Amino acid sequence: MSGGAGSAGAGAGKRAAAANVVSIQKLTKSFRTGVTALADIDLEVAPREFVSLIGPSGCGKSTLLRIIGDLVGPSSGTVRVNGKTAHQARLDHDYGIVFQDPVLFDWRTVSKNVSLPLELLGWDRARRKERVAELLHLVELTGFESSRPWQLSGGMQQRVSIARALSFDPALLLMDEPFGALDEMTRERLNLELLGIWEKSASTIVFVTHSIPEAVFLSTRVVVMSARPGRISETIDVDLPHPRNAMTHEEPRFFELVTAVREALAAGHGRHGTRDAAGTTEER
Ligand code: ADP
Ligand code: MG
Repeated sequence: MSGGAGSAGAGAGKRAAAANVVSIQKLTKSFRTGVTALADIDLEVAPREFVSLIGPSGCGKSTLLRIIGDLVGPSSGTVRVNGKTAHQARLDHDYGIVFQDPVLFDWRTVSKNVSLPLELLGWDRARRKERVAELLHLVELTGFESSRPWQLSGGMQQRVSIARALSFDPALLLMDEPFGALDEMTRERLNLELLGIWEKSASTIVFVTHSIPEAVFLSTRVVVMSARPGRISETIDVDLPHPRNAMTHEEPRFFELVTAVREALAAGHGRHGTRDAAGTTEER
């Protein structure tokens, strides 16, 4: 990323759908229960973007991510991932997914958790070993190869699941509040690590969060959603330069963008008359 002001969003309206990693048109999703989780969703994500979805609880962030990941089907509209159907993209292992809960296999060692997708892809042992060492180094878990997940802290477990999602170098990484359950310190450190990984790799990330500072710090673009039914109410380009670091949090532009996202959330909330009892938009 050259990180020039507005570079990520300069062509936002005109991105060629075919070249995009995610291309969604007129998406709606209603569940059998009668809940309309998503309405009128149009979203284009270009290669190398880091897009955060933010919005109040229940606005359909997870549902949108799950539709991109072919874990749920849309009710109408089109979804393309790498120019294919979401289903084909899943079969082709075009993306990795990280959930809020690390979902590791307790009976497998750290190494074997990370190498699982590679085993499924038929990589031979030597190649897997080399790749796992590289990944554990990346997420700073060298030395924990033979540990079991339950022996690790929550932050370490989440790093294992990130390493696993990155293992086969997916074009797209889908992350659903991956740091939501962690303490603030761990979260900030993992934000830095994730950003470092993204800056070094060629991957595209769609990231769900309800933390405004996290969204601004990580993203090239923040997509603000409003609830009932979930819609995209605003898109904010984050023109903070890269590489970003802990000091980015102190920059005036960072605060301006945090305020812009906060106001967009509040506006989306008011417009649909769903302000909650406390009158606040949820942000963590
Ligand atoms: P978010 O991740 O933004 O908190 P979700 O995508 O989880 O929101 O949920 C959006 C809405 O869809 C909510 O009203 C939720 O109750 C509903 N919903 C999510 N998954 C299902 C499901 N499998 N069946 C029925 N309703 C669901
Ligand atoms: Mg969710």
